[in-house]
This record gives sequence, structure tokens and C-alpha cells, in this order.
Amino acid sequence: MQKEIKAIIDGWRNYFQGSSSVGLTLAQERAVICSTCEYAKYGKHAAILPDAQIGNIQGYYCGVCKCPLSTAVRSSGYECPKNKW
Ligand code: SF4
Repeated sequence: MQKEIKAIIDGWRNYFQGSSSVGLTLAQERAVICSTCEYAKYGKHAAILPDAQIGNIQGYYCGVCKCPLSTAVRSSGYECPKNKW
């Protein structure tokens, strides 16, 4: 559980800093997979969570773990719950 909390905090910190603990390229590669995933859901938080760097997942969250994808793809500790990346 502590590992998951660290991954969530890491993702949010990276999101707000406009960075990524896995590198922007890998975060973008993860986002491409998420953007075509059947579990990706569009939320109403797009207006408050803009994502100019990785626009294809802006406003989306993972329907399995409920994490905003803009934070999940930027975290080194986050693991896709369906092992897609
Ligand atoms: S984190 Fe995994 S399961 Fe969730 S939307 Fe992305 S690819 Fe799909």
C-alpha cells in the first residue's frame, strides 16, 4: 500500500512540475497505449487538469484504478493494472 501511495504522490508532483520520473518520452509512450485502452475513461476534471505536454490523455483517468492518466504515466512507481505497459 505504501508503494502505491508513493507512486501516486510521485505522479502528482511530476504533473505539477511539468516533469516525469520516467522521462517525458516514456510517459508519452505510455500515454499512447492508454489513449487507445478500453479502460480509459473521460472525466470532468479536464478543465482543472490541463496537460499541454501529453495532450492525448488530457482529462482521462484509468477506469480500473481511477488514477488520472496525466499523473499515472509520469510516475516510475505506478504499474498499469492490466499490465499493458
Ligand atoms: S493504466 Fe493500463 S488499464 Fe489503465 S487506461 Fe492505461 S493502459 Fe488502460
